[in-house]
Amino acid sequence: MSGFPGGLGVVILLTAIAGSLWIIFDIVIALLFYCIALLLTIIYHLRYLTALDRWLQIPVPTSTALPEGSGAWGDVFARLARLMRNQSQSHQQLSLALERLRRATSAMPEGVVILDETDRIEWCNPVAEQHFGIDSNRDVGRLITFLVRQPQFAEYLTTHNYSEPLTVKQTRHQELVLSLQLVPYGDKQKLLISRDITRLEAVEIMRRDFVANVSHELRTPLTVIGGFFETLSEENGISSDMSKRALSLMSDQTKRMQRLVEDLLTLSRLENTQNQVLEKSVNVSDVLHELYQEAQSLSAGRHHINLNLETDMKLLGSPDELRSAFSNLVSNAIRYTADGGEVTLSWRNQNGQGVFTVQDNGIGIDQAHIPRLEERFYRVDLSRSRETGGTGLGLAIVKHILNRHQAHLEITSEIGKGSSFSAWFPEKRSVIQQND
Ligand code: ADP
Repeated sequence: MSGFPGGLGVVILLTAIAGSLWIIFDIVIALLFYCIALLLTIIYHLRYLTALDRWLQIPVPTSTALPEGSGAWGDVFARLARLMRNQSQSHQQLSLALERLRRATSAMPEGVVILDETDRIEWCNPVAEQHFGIDSNRDVGRLITFLVRQPQFAEYLTTHNYSEPLTVKQTRHQELVLSLQLVPYGDKQKLLISRDITRLEAVEIMRRDFVANVSHELRTPLTVIGGFFETLSEENGISSDMSKRALSLMSDQTKRMQRLVEDLLTLSRLENTQNQVLEKSVNVSDVLHELYQEAQSLSAGRHHINLNLETDMKLLGSPDELRSAFSNLVSNAIRYTADGGEVTLSWRNQNGQGVFTVQDNGIGIDQAHIPRLEERFYRVDLSRSRETGGTGLGLAIVKHILNRHQAHLEITSEIGKGSSFSAWFPEKRSVIQQND
């Protein structure tokens, strides 16, 4: 690379000539020459510097508008022109990539909104405009909660737990049901992805209604049949053992069907989002005292049952639902623990969170089954579940109830050693006593 024009080289050359002039003529001529040469050099540079400054002041400087330069300045301008051309090329490539990205996100069937760290809209695609009624010109910079006004969404946004999507009915279009998922990325920014699940939701409601209606219709005939079986089995006229056995079997199976119908009805009531959770103060200690008694009678002395009440914390929620969830866990522990085993019910305050645990030293569950236990009709051992009067819906009911109370179930188990089922309730549902 050559040096800058008028750099050290020129100064050395001028000094050498001036030195020679001094030797040949005298110092005055040498100094005169030196001053004139330096003045000309400065004028030369000033001319090109002014041209460069003028070019830099153009609003959009382009390589074609660059001034012509001679000598070393010609090289400088040529290098600048090359730099400009490269820059404009990468700018074009970037614009093309951006345009491709914009077209791809516009073609997405999901709505995409980019939110900044304060949850204000930075950008959105056309589908999101439709879903949320966003006007890109008007609403960029607005808070997303201004457009999605459902309180559950505001809560979802502040919890910072975005592992599960949130279903909301968009109030601007009554018929639109959206599944919303927040994805944090970059520097505290978030992507809000919206999916239209109106049709899926309609099918789900149909399924729920169908199961609820069938269960409801089966309830009365089953009660009648069950009643007759009971009366008949109490009759003394039935002599043959075979008939007695058949009657007892029919009676057991009818009871099983009744339990199934009741559990299905409970599940559809819980699934119905119109049924709001009651927000009553539930005295968990009282509920657990009752469940302890129930457990004793269910076990009929076959197990050793303990009750550990470490706190008198109450819970905000539905008394019936909480009782039903706890009762399912207790009855499972007894049903899946061999005679002579131990079952412990405990209630504790874990840093403000209420935790109900049922621990047993029963048959235990293989790790592979644990993630699926809360699915409807999922059983590790079908015959054992049936033998002990299970419907396969107990843990599904527990899961729904806990979800409705923003709680979650933690299961730890080891085959042959026993299991522990813990229901963790959020702090906001705790009602702490003064003396707690
Ligand atoms: P079920 O009516 O069959 O008991 P649940 O939904 O209550 O249905 O439980 C699902 C399955 O989880 C059960 O079939 C059983 O295999 C397993 N399970 C539940 N609780 C326990 C427990 N305490 N110990 C061992 N297995 C359990």
